[in-house]
Amino acid sequence: MVSETIDLIASAANPPPLADAFNRPITYLRISVTDRCNLRCVYCMPEAGLPWIPKPDILSFEEIVAIVEAAASIGLRSVRLTGGEPLVRRDLPELVRALAAIPGIDDISLSTNGLLLAECAAELAAAGLQRVNVSLDTLRPERFESLARRPGLERVLAGIDAALAAGLAPLKINCVVLRGQNDDELAAFAALTVERELFVRFIEVMPVEDNLALQRDSYVPSSEILARIGELGELLPSAGPGGNGPARYFAFPNARGAVGVISPLSHDYCERCNRVRLSADGRLRLCLFGDYEIDLRAPLRAGAGRDELAALLRGGMLIKPERHHLRLGEQSSRMRAFSEIGG
Ligand code: SAM
Repeated sequence: MVSETIDLIASAANPPPLADAFNRPITYLRISVTDRCNLRCVYCMPEAGLPWIPKPDILSFEEIVAIVEAAASIGLRSVRLTGGEPLVRRDLPELVRALAAIPGIDDISLSTNGLLLAECAAELAAAGLQRVNVSLDTLRPERFESLARRPGLERVLAGIDAALAAGLAPLKINCVVLRGQNDDELAAFAALTVERELFVRFIEVMPVEDNLALQRDSYVPSSEILARIGELGELLPSAGPGGNGPARYFAFPNARGAVGVISPLSHDYCERCNRVRLSADGRLRLCLFGDYEIDLRAPLRAGAGRDELAALLRGGMLIKPERHHLRLGEQSSRMRAFSEIGG
């Protein structure tokens, strides 16, 4: 009786950590702070943009913080701010500062296209941001303009320098590989990892509603990417920079950084999945591919407190699927683009 009481008190003080129905610990939340973006990458967003989420439907910083506090109380440790383009959301350092103050949150990172990074890297670092991933698909200015449908390569490169100078490390560069469009730059990207402590991750293009044709014509499997980089020199498996990611890393001898591949289609990484996503309008999304989600905004705006939100989060874990069923050339979700849910 006494020991049962002690157990009860102990479990109230240390609730069981967040896990899904397959016993995967869920410690990582990717938060989309906006669905808007200042680029129109050909594989991600139509040139005219998307039907944007109405502003009142987008979570306020206070609402995001309330959700993260609830998640942290049951074991969440890492958050990544993404979008859309997170740096187009005004006052982002304020959100970073509030998230950094939440007990239990010990890792705050950002995914950005880098266009606005040079201006705010130091302020973000001072607010508590630790790491940054920059998306960059080409090192050629004209090609940047045709792939992203807007100019800006110089600004992105300045953003990378500013992030490193501000101590936002390890810095990862995410490059979506498209056959015939940028796959002739694999060597140039890989070379970046030799002299500087940069981690370049090559990503297989994934299918969303508007890019199925592109996906069919331009998909390059990561096995081919690795084979082609391997022709440049000896490539050894590497631990990489650590972190939460699904990448597998390799490095040239004496390189300061490493190359990685992310293979959502050709190499199943679901068994190691530790993440869920929060859309800009407050839906908890359990898998990037597939419409497994619950609405957190309505209960939050109806007055749900920390424990109720934590209970909703726990409930949500039960519908996280064991694996995605995405196949090349298929689209397994009604989502129009990653920008909607924080890719
Ligand atoms: N704007 C930020 C950025 O550029 O990193 C965050 C959002 S963006 C949607 C996140 C990542 O998703 C980027 O690296 C982008 O290249 C990637 N992405 C978007 N659509 C994709 C697709 N169809 N296949 C593979 N990666 C995609």
